[in-house]
Amino acid sequence: ESGQKKPHVAVLASPGIGHVTPLLELAKRLVVDHGFHVTFLSITTDAPPAQLQLLSNPSLPSDLHVVSLPRVDVSKQPIGISVRIFLVVQETLKCLPFVLKNLQPPIKSLVVDPFCIEALEIAADLSIPTYVFMTSSASLLALTLYFPTINAEVNGDYSKIAEEVIVPGCKPLLLDDLVPGVLSPEVLPMCNRFPTVKGILVNTWEELEPVTLLSLRENLFFLGLPAPPVYPIGPLTKEDKPVTSTLESSRFLTWLDEQPVGSVVYISFGSGGTLSREQMIELAWGLELSQKRFVWVARPPNDSSVSGSFFKAGFNTDDPASYLPEGFLDRTRGRGLVTSSLAPQVAVLSYRSVAGFVTHCGWNSVLESVLHGVAMIAWPLYAEQRMNARFLVDVGVALWPEAEEDDGKRVVGRCEVERVVRTILEEEGEGVRRRVRELQGTAVKALEVYGSSNGSLEGLAKEWREA
Ligand code: UDP
Repeated sequence: ESGQKKPHVAVLASPGIGHVTPLLELAKRLVVDHGFHVTFLSITTDAPPAQLQLLSNPSLPSDLHVVSLPRVDVSKQPIGISVRIFLVVQETLKCLPFVLKNLQPPIKSLVVDPFCIEALEIAADLSIPTYVFMTSSASLLALTLYFPTINAEVNGDYSKIAEEVIVPGCKPLLLDDLVPGVLSPEVLPMCNRFPTVKGILVNTWEELEPVTLLSLRENLFFLGLPAPPVYPIGPLTKEDKPVTSTLESSRFLTWLDEQPVGSVVYISFGSGGTLSREQMIELAWGLELSQKRFVWVARPPNDSSVSGSFFKAGFNTDDPASYLPEGFLDRTRGRGLVTSSLAPQVAVLSYRSVAGFVTHCGWNSVLESVLHGVAMIAWPLYAEQRMNARFLVDVGVALWPEAEEDDGKRVVGRCEVERVVRTILEEEGEGVRRRVRELQGTAVKALEVYGSSNGSLEGLAKEWREA
């Protein structure tokens, strides 16, 4: 069957690897497993190099067409990440009516990530059915759907929100874990738009978030408003094989292959996370004191932002020796590897030698870790990461090191780093490691032909085919 005859859908992702990765995996599955022709609309303004690389991967299937939307000029003023992404999306999508009208054959549906809400209105005006793909947890989805109600209850005065935020049917959330970054007036338009779509796909699966998925299904949030159906289709993650293998990444993988089973911790804070100078020093000392093996993605420290490398994620040339404790690299030689570039994370997590992951708890990292049965040390930095961290600890798959308050700054000291790194790899950590392997089993099952997540996606595919 030629691409022209296949059902055609479009997928639109906002800038950032954390958004592009799951949407691209969705697109690939629709093409490969469900016989679709997919146009992937990519926003290239602010796209980090690693994102461009994902989308120009020559091994993408032939019925997946990547279309880059024209770049826009946004002000250079330093604004927070989410506001900046909203701004870039808003400007870029001015061309969307034209682009959507000209897609041939006409598309059956448009799937977007939560930062692309403007697209929903545009597509609705063209009578195109719209879907959101929530690239984080069902729990964040539930909160997103319920936030307008909370906002109305406190009349926009967020200081009145109780310490425990209760979304009906869900486990209470701690306000402390949600601010700043999750509950803010900027996200309200997005929250209000969510219930208007035809369906919400979410990168999770039944066994990971049973309670929240049940309450979403029971439609507790809309107080009379018709709720869109929720489709848990995860975990959709990148493949094990790195897109390109640099000399450095091959060196890493060869080394990991030679280490004993369950002996290595992997440390990475996502595509954008950065530590302060002081925190980086403590982490380095903690690793050294633990005497454990490690692979560490150590980007240059940043004292003013915890997401200091978000728009730069790619292949850096910074020399870690210039910002790690003096002599650290020599003293840990043979026992640890350090890079300032992105690591081939999924490949790293797939090695049997890796048993612990110090992670910023970005949702993709969480899913990749669970899918490979790697226990976590939660090190949240921004956005909804504290909420994810709390969830992982509750589920029993992560340890959360305690930070000391120092001059208003929270720093995890070297002894605490040493303690959690040892725990995650030694006997004491067996419970956490067992629990993550159990969840891994359910994840693998969910994705199988008769699994729940595969079934969810097949249901949607059927709906689109018949539209
Ligand atoms: N990633 C990677 N190498 C790294 C760090 C991150 O390949 O050194 C990938 C990781 O596998 C994941 C994505 O980048 O797919 C990060 O997404 P996540 O949601 O965890 O965090 P974000 O970067 O959006 O904060």
